Amino acid sequence: MKVRILGTGAAEGIPALFCRCSVCENAGKLAGKDIRTRSGVMINDTVLIDFSPDMLWNSRRFRLHLWNVTDLLITHSHADHLSAVSLALRKPEDYCMMPKGIGKLKIHCSEQSERRIREEVCFDGSDAEEFLYFERLNMFRSFSIRQLVCTPLPAVHSAGAEQCCVFLIREGGHTFFYGTDSAEYPELTKEFLKEQHLDAVVFDCTFGALTDRNRCRSHMNMDICRDVFCELKESGAVTKNTKCYLTHFSHFCGMLHSELEDEAMKRGFHAAYDGLEISLGDKQT
Ligand SMILES: [Zn+2]
Ligand SMILES: [Zn+2]
Ligand SMILES: [Zn+2]
Repeated sequence: MKVRILGTGAAEGIPALFCRCSVCENAGKLAGKDIRTRSGVMINDTVLIDFSPDMLWNSRRFRLHLWNVTDLLITHSHADHLSAVSLALRKPEDYCMMPKGIGKLKIHCSEQSERRIREEVCFDGSDAEEFLYFERLNMFRSFSIRQLVCTPLPAVHSAGAEQCCVFLIREGGHTFFYGTDSAEYPELTKEFLKEQHLDAVVFDCTFGALTDRNRCRSHMNMDICRDVFCELKESGAVTKNTKCYLTHFSHFCGMLHSELEDEAMKRGFHAAYDGLEISLGDKQT
């Protein structure tokens, strides 16, 4: 399995629009790993998790061939994870020339995300049915996309009535957990994860090394990530071979990439960055 992390910033990205904090100012100067776009992941070049408002820039800088994407998994409908209006650009002829034989884009999402997409892609009178196909996510119910087996698991995140989710993705004997946006994962999710052998995990760490747990009602900080890490290690789901990353960093956590990486490493993690590639096993299809 080939995983590419496309974006590792919180809702504002870094540097944030309109912001003059020291992180944003220095990130602008340093560029490289300090530039963080909104969240998303590409798997095996054909499956996306989330569709951020930065997909245009990410497709350019990582030379993505988005016409090859057959399936889109949506964690939740917050605007930093779902730029619904951009999905209108998938409509053949009106906005793009697709290679022959490419069908509709299949979107695996909640009822709320589907509603948002349907409302926003029809701004020009288009009907979503013409180029998109929707599959409803059900927590803990796995579904297959070719060799990939995907399982949505409940997250704790403030999005009204929407059940936000994180994903476990398996291919062959390899397992990848993608866990942004959530406060400490609910017991049922942790219990499910404890049964797995995890080759790579990516945890929400919006608040970086800030220690105030009262802020962590929808996101996590490094201390909570460390607690989850220890629980999973105790159960054997995480081992010394598991690749552990943190993502969804906010500029408000007050740290540049090198500082986040230092703090993350003290706790057994790495700070993810835009463009990071994680390879699991030899097979890359
Ligand atoms: Zn987010
Ligand atoms: Zn800032
Ligand atoms: Zn969110």
